[in-house]
Amino acid sequence: MQFLADAMLGKLARWLRIIGHDTAYDPSLDDGAMIFKAKSESRVLVTRDLELSQRARREGVESTLIISHLLAQELEEMLPLLGIGRAGSRCPLCNTALTEADRAMQIEKAPGNARLWLCPSCGKTYWHGSHWKGIRTTLESLGLSDANDLT
Ligand SMILES: [Zn+2]
Repeated sequence: MQFLADAMLGKLARWLRIIGHDTAYDPSLDDGAMIFKAKSESRVLVTRDLELSQRARREGVESTLIISHLLAQELEEMLPLLGIGRAGSRCPLCNTALTEADRAMQIEKAPGNARLWLCPSCGKTYWHGSHWKGIRTTLESLGLSDANDLT
C-alpha cells in the first residue's frame, strides 16, 4: 500500500518510510494537486483535514483521516492499513528504498559492527544507533517490530 501524507504530517510520513511504506510527502501541493497525485499514483491520502478527506473520497480516492496529534497514536490510527509485512526500510528524507552499504563503506563509516544502510538517491547513510532504539521501542509498543528491517 502506498501513501500520500498531507503537509501537516511530515513526521508521520518519515516514520511510514522507516517501516518500509512508500510514502509521498510534498508540502507545496494544494488540495486539488494532492487528490490528483493520490489518484494518478494509486496512493492512499493520509490527512488531518476532514474537508480534504471527504473531498478525496467523493473523487474516488481512498483516504484515511488522522485525528491524533501524537506520533505513536497517529501510527496506531494507521495500523489497519499498514499490515504486518516485512518491507525494507525507506529513506526518511526522500522515500527511496535503502540498500545495505558495501563492505568498504561499512568499514570506513560504520562504528563497530553496526550495519550501515545507504540511500541510493540522496546518498544519506543510516546505521543502528540510539535513534533506532527509540524507533524500535515505539514500533514494538504497536506490535510492528517485525516490520522494521533496521533493528
Ligand atoms: Zn534519501
